Amino acid sequence: MNLARFPFLNEAFSFVEEQGADLESLLEGTAFEEARSRGKQRVLEAIGNSDISDISLAGGEFDRLLEIMSYIYARMLVSSIDDHYLTRRYSLAEAVKLNRNLSHILSSDPDAVIGVAGELDANAVAADKGLMMHFTDFLRFSSRIKSPEWKLVNTEVFDGYVFLPGTSFCRVLQNALQDRLEREIPLHLPEEMKRSLTKVTGDIVNELEARKSRFEDGGLGEVDAELFPPCMRVLLANTQNGVNLPHTGRFALTSFLHNLGMDSEEILLLFSKSPDFDESKTLYQIKHITGETSGTEYTAPECATMKSHGICYEPDRLCASDKVNHPLVYYRAKSFLRSKEQKGKGAEGKAEKKDST
Ligand code: SF4
Repeated sequence: MNLARFPFLNEAFSFVEEQGADLESLLEGTAFEEARSRGKQRVLEAIGNSDISDISLAGGEFDRLLEIMSYIYARMLVSSIDDHYLTRRYSLAEAVKLNRNLSHILSSDPDAVIGVAGELDANAVAADKGLMMHFTDFLRFSSRIKSPEWKLVNTEVFDGYVFLPGTSFCRVLQNALQDRLEREIPLHLPEEMKRSLTKVTGDIVNELEARKSRFEDGGLGEVDAELFPPCMRVLLANTQNGVNLPHTGRFALTSFLHNLGMDSEEILLLFSKSPDFDESKTLYQIKHITGETSGTEYTAPECATMKSHGICYEPDRLCASDKVNHPLVYYRAKSFLRSKEQKGKGAEGKAEKKDST
């Protein structure tokens, strides 16, 4: 197993120690200039793409050492900036990279994949049929993924272990690493070290602020969120709180907002709050749903479809009425009820005024 592709493993840290590398030389030494530059690149790529590219490690042992050191340095940079959005985005990018690298070794070295799971605190075993994870760890690490196929009832469980296709197994470990990094960062760095890192974090902070200011104005425009049905409120809140939506949820929310009159750019701004936001990919998906590129303008799914996809979240009393069979019907019904209520209040106000004259 190439440890440089899995720099968070204990074995990778042991390798660094064996090579005699230390933090002082990482921060100041000329031998590690390349590791510092790559570490900074890791963070900038995380901000820009929520992914970190794999580099060639053809140079052998020293290249591997540099790559592991760049991971250590990147974590220090992110810790010294200590910004919640950056931490989440960086953690996600390292986790997406892990998912890709695990997928590459899945068929050739399943035991190594199980070993990585163990280090990420997931109890897992390899079986004839594929890989298995204890159901408690599966539940813990898949809780961010809200689509029906990830529900425990829709999996095959044997003796407390969930059978998972290789790609799903890697996806769960992606979440496990993301959780772990979000817990660990910010690292406790000595003040002096933080000060010295501040000298090189200027570009990263500028990039981070540029990204935030570019997307921070995302609002709902003319659309009134108070009229949203509970399902759309949950989906919107998840998006804005950085929880990844299942594909069906993204589709439902995008088509719903479009059906209410929001254009692609406005919808894009809403999705920009998500930590795994990829501008070009998201815009492509939005334009497909709004018909700009596909020629088909999609309508939001009706309630029955939302229910079958497991995204009819928290239905309320209005949802239970016979007339509401679609999130758009809910929106219009609530708008009607509100204007009726306002008219009622207006009439009461006039009556009170008349009485007092
Ligand atoms: S019943 Fe329909 S409108 Fe209400 S939460 Fe479910 S999907 Fe949304």
